[in-house]
Parts: sequence; C-alpha cells; structure tokens
Amino acid sequence: MLTKDLASAPNDLESFWMPFTSNRHFKKNPRMLVKAKGLHYTTQDGRQLLDATAGLWCVNAGHAHPKIVEAIQNQAADLDFAPSFQWAHPKSFELASRLAHLFPGDLDHAFFTNSGSESVDTALKIALAYQRAKGQGTRTRLIGRERGYHGVGFGGISVGGMVKNRMYFGSLLAGVDHLPHTYSLEHQAYSKGQPAWGAHLADELERLVALHDASTIAAVIVEPVAGSTGVLAPPVGYLQRLREITKKHGILLIFDEVITAYGRLGKSSAVEYFGVQPDMITTAKGLTSATIPMGAVMVSKEIYDTFMENGGSEKAIELFHGYTYSAHPIACAAALATLDVYRDEGVFENAASLEGYWAEAIHSLKGKPNVIDIRTIGIMAAVELSSRAGAPAERAYDAMLLGYEKGIMLRITGDTIAMSPPLVLTKAHIDEIVDKLGSVLDELA
Ligand code: PLP
Repeated sequence: MLTKDLASAPNDLESFWMPFTSNRHFKKNPRMLVKAKGLHYTTQDGRQLLDATAGLWCVNAGHAHPKIVEAIQNQAADLDFAPSFQWAHPKSFELASRLAHLFPGDLDHAFFTNSGSESVDTALKIALAYQRAKGQGTRTRLIGRERGYHGVGFGGISVGGMVKNRMYFGSLLAGVDHLPHTYSLEHQAYSKGQPAWGAHLADELERLVALHDASTIAAVIVEPVAGSTGVLAPPVGYLQRLREITKKHGILLIFDEVITAYGRLGKSSAVEYFGVQPDMITTAKGLTSATIPMGAVMVSKEIYDTFMENGGSEKAIELFHGYTYSAHPIACAAALATLDVYRDEGVFENAASLEGYWAEAIHSLKGKPNVIDIRTIGIMAAVELSSRAGAPAERAYDAMLLGYEKGIMLRITGDTIAMSPPLVLTKAHIDEIVDKLGSVLDELA
C-alpha cells in the first residue's frame, strides 16, 4: 500500500530523530515540555522548570509574551505568506529599517534568513561575492577560529572549530583556516567579564596573512563571545586588534552575534557592548525571542552599495541568494512586536542593570565540588566541571538530569554548564538559579 492511513499512525518516540541529542538515552526517560510562560516551562508531569537557558539562548523576552503572541496571531490571519523574490510586504521593510536603527554604525542593511546557520552561510557568501564585485576575486579564503560555533551548514562547520561538528562530514569548504581560540584556564580562571590576558592571540591573524597573503583572504568570522563552547569572553583589546588587522589588509570582519545580539550583553549587540565595528553581523534567536524562526544578517552600507553599483542593468538581480521564507510575514510581525517589547519594557536595560549581580551570584558557586572554572559576561555564564576519568561530558550530562529533577533547565556543552536566562529576569530568579544549581553541584558525583 503506497498511501498510509494517517489516523492510525503510531505515536511513539521512535520516529523523531532528535538534533544534538542522545536519542537512545532520552527516549528511555524523556523530558517533555508542554507549556511555557515567563521564565518557566511546565513539564508533561505538571512540574515547573525554571528556564536558566532562555530555551537555547533565544527566548530573551520571556515565554509567551502576550504582545508577541497577539502579533503572530493577527499576522497569520491577515497575510500568512508573501514571497520575497521580486515581491514584498510592508513589514519586511519596516523591520529592516528598525534593525538598521538598532545596530550601531553603518550596519544599515538587513538580509533575512530563518536561522543562525543560514545567517552565517549568507554572510560568508556575501563576503565572497563582495570581494569579487570589488575586483578582488582572488580573495576566496575564509578564516574562522578554534572553538567557534557558527551553526551547522557546510559554511558554518567549515569556519567553526568544534571537532565533533566537523570530523564526520568530509573535507568541508576548501581554503579555510583558523585562528587559535582565546581561552586559557591557567591565565583566565574565574573571570568576570573580559579576561585581561590574551589580546596578543589576535596577532595570529598576521601570521595567517603572512602564510596565505592578504590577497587570498575574504573574511574573518568570530563570535564576539564564544557561546556554545562555554562562554568565552574576548580578552581585553582582542576584538579591537582583530579589527585593526583586518582593516589594514582589506579583509572583512564578521561578528557572529546569533547569541549576543538583542540584549544578551545588556546592549543591542556585542558591537555596542565592546565598541568594535565589524562589516557584518549575523543574528537570529532573540530577533523574534524565538517565537518564530528568523535570522538577519546586518551588512554595512559599503557592502550593500558595492552590490548596487556593480549590479549591471537595473532589472538584474544583484545577489543570487535567498530563502523561500526570507522575511516571512509572520516572522516579521513577531520580530517587530519583540523589538517593541525590548524597547517599551527596557529589556536590554534590565539585563545591563543585573550584569554585576548575576556575576557575583554565579561566582559564589566557586568551591563547589568538581568546579574548575566559572566565567560570566552580560547575562551569560559557564560553570566548568572537571571531567570524570574516561567519560568526558558525562558529569555535566548528569548535572542536567539532576537539574531537571530539581526544577531547573540547564544547558550543557562538554563538561560545562552554560546559562543564559530570559532577559526579563529579576534578582529573585538569579538567586533561585544559584540555589538550584548549587544543590545540583552538591549532589553530583
Ligand atoms: N552561530 C552561533 C554563534 C550560534 O550560537 C548558533 C546557535 O547556537 C548558530 C550560529 C546557529 O544557529 P541555528 O541553530 O539557529 O542555526
């Protein structure tokens, strides 16, 4: 029989191949979430779970904000879809203008995507096509960084620096090199904010230029704060040095702000927080507070103008790139409502005002069993645990399971517990996070 009867399909846990998940263990003992409001999830067995991770670094405005929910509902009824290839709807322009205004400097143009991974691939493609449009078609090399996470597209894993995300997937993009990562336990343990040691690591870019020649390098991409490999803040002066060196050699600088944009550091972006102006930023996640998938690449005026000036006939397409769902009307409506919430409720300001309290509170966990480092910046934190002999990452995995029992959602990466709660949090939420995590660490073997 070719057509299956949908009504009688079995509903079990087997069919869904879960992403970045230990499927076999999860399906024996699932952690199912059925509702969310504010800073809490409700589990299927009716328990409240404090969301210490804003879902996946993304629910910055808190769950189910009524204004965002309403905007999505209205948009779905008014205009469910409109193509963005040769057609448009007004909210896409309104949103792009709002973003151009939000981000500092001349990051004045938005290219819309549906995820962080797509934003990264978009930015890398724009960088290559830009260099070509400038008559510098030999600049095809892309430089990433060890311990970088730029999503899971082939571009993103090629410039990324996480071995498991790369090793299974063939030879990746050709002509990619990597800067060294900026973390040193020896020199930076227990940093609050930016570590003092490590700016010299940006000079490694000069070494790569000497090796490959600047005329072969299109762009450098880094996360201003590496998130997924455990909250690695940039050393003081590091991003400034990267900017100087890239500018000197005509290399584009891309900040991957998929986590850091939209308030995670108490500002619109890491650009604003660190005062370093790149040529492009990639964003997603907090753009819609994760209610609808959406990303945006913000591009400098110089880059956009170059494409327009070199586009040939006015009826010609300037960039052969885009997604069916670029600037999806429901995503645009969700993003506009989210930006309203950020502005009207002072969400970034709330995060900024709590940065110090957050840092002190999380660092009070120093001395708990198995803790070897704690790092904080903005409303992000990592608590790094020593690994069990022969079983890397399992101690943190068990911490996540214990947290679930004790009513807190923790994110883990390797043996690091990473936290990034919604930015509408209060001091009481921070105290609860520290209290619950402290009790997890006390019990963890
Ligand atoms: N870039 C960075 C810095 C990220 O942290 C992430 C996701 O965590 C991505 C890209 C990929 O985003 P997505 O999972 O939406 O594709």
